[in-house]
Amino acid sequence: MSTTTETAVRANKVKYVNRIDALTNIPDDVKEDLKKVAEQYVFRANDYYLGLIDWDDPADPIRQLIIPRIEELDDWGKLDASNEAANTVSRGVQHKYPQTTLLLCNEVCGAYCRYCFRKRLFMDDNDDASLDVTQGLEYIRNHPEVCNVLLTGGDPLILGTTRLEYIFTELRKIPHVHTIRIGTKMPAFNPWRVLDDPKLVDLISAHSNNDFRIYIIAHFDHPRELTEPAIRGMDVLMRAGAIPVNQCPIVMGVNDDADVLGELFRKLEFIGIPPYYIFQGRPTAGNLPYEVPIVRGNALVEKARTMASGLGRRARHSMSHDLGKIEIVGIDKEHIYMRFHQARFREDDGRFLIAKRDDEAYWLDGLEPSDAFRAANTRPGLPFQWSAHFKDLTD
Ligand code: SF4
Repeated sequence: MSTTTETAVRANKVKYVNRIDALTNIPDDVKEDLKKVAEQYVFRANDYYLGLIDWDDPADPIRQLIIPRIEELDDWGKLDASNEAANTVSRGVQHKYPQTTLLLCNEVCGAYCRYCFRKRLFMDDNDDASLDVTQGLEYIRNHPEVCNVLLTGGDPLILGTTRLEYIFTELRKIPHVHTIRIGTKMPAFNPWRVLDDPKLVDLISAHSNNDFRIYIIAHFDHPRELTEPAIRGMDVLMRAGAIPVNQCPIVMGVNDDADVLGELFRKLEFIGIPPYYIFQGRPTAGNLPYEVPIVRGNALVEKARTMASGLGRRARHSMSHDLGKIEIVGIDKEHIYMRFHQARFREDDGRFLIAKRDDEAYWLDGLEPSDAFRAANTRPGLPFQWSAHFKDLTD
């Protein structure tokens, strides 16, 4: 982004764009198609982020990330692809892994990523998120195994700072909670949310210290999102005491290129934001045009890792599956090797999985176990399943 453009946006603040008709760089006939998509999967962007697009390039990665595509209407996947409903303990509260509770405390983002796995939240009839965190706080108070709380949504940094202060303060009153994680793409979508709000910076400063920690789970998908103001925004958060990491999925047309991912890792490493997870895209309804098969995705991640130092190589290529976070740890000519990084069922913690190599598969459920793995893990009279938690799954 040029300095002139930045100054213009800065002077006027970021303006949100919710109508396809407002996209002046798209021909009218194309807009008609995109409106049909936006009726199904809502569109939202802002002038700063749209200003990062090279409109002369139809394949521009920032454009792919934010502008709808007609292929989103292809029939594919489920709205809740990793079965978050199974972890939902009350409205806006998810608990899957013992130590972590999720508060879906908002259902709006600075813009909407076309590949979002939670796009159901942005639909009119959905109430999976809750601005009212009273039930969530009560649940966490009653679960002493919970030591960290992930604020997510939607984007928690869309909430006002006074609201965040209330949530932080209430969580800090719970003696077993030591960490708050904020899952946010606002530093990418609108860095001025941080840069223009000294109270937010003071809030982070007041709550991230030797007794308690605030993590920023940032979401940069492409090195071009790491603009000067975006880097400055992250730097302000880090200097206030927040500990940053970055996670993003592999997205077709956005970052499915080893050089792009490698550059992302290197830039993040330099700024001081460790790459944390690189997610395999969940088979979410509407997301087919953004999906990359497991084998190709893993090859990209592995090649990109060779371009970074050990600091940038910390990213794990993982599937956030109904059964847990499953890391893809290696692929050879015949097999795909995976391991439970986190598991829904205790029996699966650290469990190693071996599938037959399938270059077309996008998700664990599309993979066949290797013959040896199937033989070793099938109980007499029961169908094969990836989890070792046979009893409850088959009851
Ligand atoms: S910022 Fe996160 S929650 Fe919001 S649209 Fe993007 S992926 Fe979805």
